[in-house]
Amino acid sequence: MISESETRARILETVRALPPRKMSILFALDRFAAEDYFAQLPLPMFDNSAMDGYAVIARESKRGARLRVVGEQPAGVDRKLRVSKGEAIRIFTGAPIPQGANAVVMQEDVMRDGDEIVVNTEVDHDEFIRKRGCDLGEGQKILSKGEQITATKLALLASQGFAEISVGGEVRAAIVSTGDELARPGEKLQAGEIYDSNAILLQALLKRCCTVAGSAEHCRDDAPSLEKTFRAAAKNEIVIVTGGVSVGEHDLVQETLRKLGAKIDIWRVAIKPGKPFLFGKLGDCFVFGLPGNPVSAFVTFLQFVRPAILKMMGAADVDLAKFSARLGADVKNESERAHYIRGKFQDGNFMSIGRQESHALFGLSQSNALLRVETGKEFKAGATVEIEIF
Ligand code: AMP
Ligand code: MG
Repeated sequence: MISESETRARILETVRALPPRKMSILFALDRFAAEDYFAQLPLPMFDNSAMDGYAVIARESKRGARLRVVGEQPAGVDRKLRVSKGEAIRIFTGAPIPQGANAVVMQEDVMRDGDEIVVNTEVDHDEFIRKRGCDLGEGQKILSKGEQITATKLALLASQGFAEISVGGEVRAAIVSTGDELARPGEKLQAGEIYDSNAILLQALLKRCCTVAGSAEHCRDDAPSLEKTFRAAAKNEIVIVTGGVSVGEHDLVQETLRKLGAKIDIWRVAIKPGKPFLFGKLGDCFVFGLPGNPVSAFVTFLQFVRPAILKMMGAADVDLAKFSARLGADVKNESERAHYIRGKFQDGNFMSIGRQESHALFGLSQSNALLRVETGKEFKAGATVEIEIF
């Protein structure tokens, strides 16, 4: 059995970031920047009005002052207007501040009287003016290589005029669920059969990593079908196989992979659930063999497959988000493998949920966090623990 940390390290050493490519910002959500990006424009780009109102000279606009409106400055053009003593210019939100003006009075704070206004408030220097560069300076870093591109980062890129962005490569993945007992949801079950829930689980988890499963095949536990399916699946960057990676007579995955010339790098990891995990290479394709039990497949996907995919996609951070939580009940790990307890993180507390066996899909479906308990480790209720959110 190999330790969990060694498994992770070996996988992350083996997989490489795929070549980056340029794409429209329209498609870049959730991908990873392949280079650093810097502001080519300041934000705001020019001094502009934060309100609909009147551009004035602050010192000349005491409460009660009467000013002549000498022009109008809308957003979208620069009319190159100028405000002089005793004057104001009608202005709108986002419009460039006219020469000479150093404040904007809100329209609600003046009384309009023909082509004049009477100021009904105190006016401070710079009031309601959004200064050039106050938000973002030219040359400032806006996105780091390996950073995930969020909706707001996309908005920032757009505000800089970037229509395209260089992002990390795309991983093509294939899913193979193995087992004579499996039927497809929607089909009629025969006695002894169960529905394949891993295929959809893995497709959904891949989607969360911005990766599409190009195929999701079901394969019976017989060597010729497995051989044929693996051969076809190996055209992808990665193949994720579930079931059949253990040691029973019907567990033919490893044997078949070896027969096809695969190099098996890792088999059996000290993790609970998830021991019969396999990692290897078939041609240029990375093969992840996950246990058939749904919770084991889930945990090993998150701990081993997800980081590998993220690294291939050029992510700088491949870990799940970690939070501190107050533990709801005592936990103790007396097994020889690190134990991932599934539970619910809510209002700063973590409570394990449902049965903690590797088949217990209902409990898993109610949980949103994992607590890793090292071999021999014990935590008392009320202790502060670090959990991973998924
Ligand atoms: P295996 O790893 O093939 O020995 O399977 C372990 C357990 O997981 C068995 O109870 C299988 O029926 C179950 N199992 C295997 N594949 C799937 C799947 N795709 N969906 C749901 N359960 C599965
Ligand atoms: Mg099986």
